[in-house]
Amino acid sequence: MAVIHYCLHRDGEPEFGADTARTTRPLPYPTATISEDGTQYQCHQCGGRKWDACGDECYLCEVTGWLDMPVGYECSPSPQDLVAFVAERGRPAADGDRVIAFEGTATSYRDGTRLLYYGIPTHVVESLPWKGFIARHLAS
Ligand SMILES: [Zn+2]
Repeated sequence: MAVIHYCLHRDGEPEFGADTARTTRPLPYPTATISEDGTQYQCHQCGGRKWDACGDECYLCEVTGWLDMPVGYECSPSPQDLVAFVAERGRPAADGDRVIAFEGTATSYRDGTRLLYYGIPTHVVESLPWKGFIARHLAS
């Protein structure tokens, strides 16, 4: 059975699809600086300084100060995880926002103690308004 990923697609964003996954993805970290060509962001471990607080070479970016941009939509591996993720980001879902359940590939990135997922869709399984998604998956 194919793995399903869940993505909150904000109202007004370009149409959901593999082609736009690159351009609509949010920053990996709210304060991250993106390189001019959009393929990298400033290392969050060393702040782009290439050296950590102890004066050692930054292991995360391998002393370049930059990390590759994640590719794909931010997504979650289950409905419950998506709800927790949205709550954690501090920007609640609005009217018009939809949850898109899709099949495709997802890559995980570690951010401190949690994992962030970035997925590229190959097939949309379902698109639901946020409220309908909550009612279906989380109503007790
Ligand atoms: Zn670094």
